[in-house]
Amino acid sequence: MTRPPCRLCGSGNQRLLYKKKRYDGVRPELNVVITSDIYGSYEDIVLCGDCGFVYQDPAPGERDLKSAYSVLRDDRYFEEDDCRSMNAHLSLRTIRRHRSGGALLDVGSSTGIFLNAARISFDVHGVEPSVWAAGFARDSLNLKTVINDTFENSVLPEAGFDVVSLIDVIEHVADPRKTLQKACKLLKPGGLLYLVTPDIRSLSASLLGRYWWGLREAHLSYFSERTITRLLEDLGFSVVEKRSYGRIFSYAYWLSRIRKYPALFYNTADLLGKVLDIGNKVIYINTRDSIEVCAIKK
Ligand SMILES: [Zn+2]
Repeated sequence: MTRPPCRLCGSGNQRLLYKKKRYDGVRPELNVVITSDIYGSYEDIVLCGDCGFVYQDPAPGERDLKSAYSVLRDDRYFEEDDCRSMNAHLSLRTIRRHRSGGALLDVGSSTGIFLNAARISFDVHGVEPSVWAAGFARDSLNLKTVINDTFENSVLPEAGFDVVSLIDVIEHVADPRKTLQKACKLLKPGGLLYLVTPDIRSLSASLLGRYWWGLREAHLSYFSERTITRLLEDLGFSVVEKRSYGRIFSYAYWLSRIRKYPALFYNTADLLGKVLDIGNKVIYINTRDSIEVCAIKK
C-alpha cells in the first residue's frame, strides 16, 4: 500500500503502528466532541521510520475539519468548567515564568475558559472554529476579541503577539507544520509559544498500546518530546521548557474517562472512590502522557 510522504519530514519510510479500528464496528461521523470517551476509533496509525513522527493516515482535509469543528457543540464541557479554569491557571503559571504580560492569542480557544483566566495579566485574543464555543466566549464571558474561524483562515496581525498558546490543539489540525509556521509569524521576535499535546512516547501510551486514550479519530498527529522539539526548532523556535502536564478534574470525571476500559479496572477505581468518599472531590493527576512545551521565537 502506498502512503503519502511523512507530514513532518517528507520521508516515504513509514510503517504501520496500529491498524485502523472502528469503535463497536460503527463508522461514526468525524467525532470531534471534546468530552467524548470514544477512544478506540481511528484510521491506520503510522510511524515515520526516519523522524519518528506518528500520525493517522488517511486524515481528513482542512475543509472537512472546518465543517466538523464549526458545528461542534459539547454541553458536557461545562460540567467540569471550574476544574478547566484551574487547569488554565496551571498553564498560566508556566507561561508567566517566561512572559508576564502583553498580547496573548489562544488558538482553539473553545468556550474561553483559558482566556478568561489569562485576561487578568494579558490583553487576550482568541480564534475558535466552533460557532457554539466562540459564541459562548463572546456573549457569556464578554471576550469580544474571539474570532469565530479556523486558525488557518483567520486574519491576524503579523508579529502582533507576545504569547501564542495552543492547548490540546496541534494534534487536531490537518498540517501541524503550517499551523506552527503561522503561529511563528504572528509572534513578535522573542515571543513565547506555549503548547500542550498528548505524548505518544509516554509510558501509558506504550503500555496501553492501541487502547491508549490519546488514540482517537480527532487526533491526527501524535508527537513526542523529540518530534515536537525537532519541528519547533526547524521553524526557528528555541525550546526553553518541556515537561509532562497534569490536570485537575473531579474524581467522577476521571472515572468516566476509563469507562471503556476493562470492567475490573473501572470497578476497582469506582469502589475506591466510594470507600474513600472522594466522588465529588477534585484531584490533580499527572498521567505523564501530555507534554507542555514553551518555545521562544528567535
Ligand atoms: Zn518523518
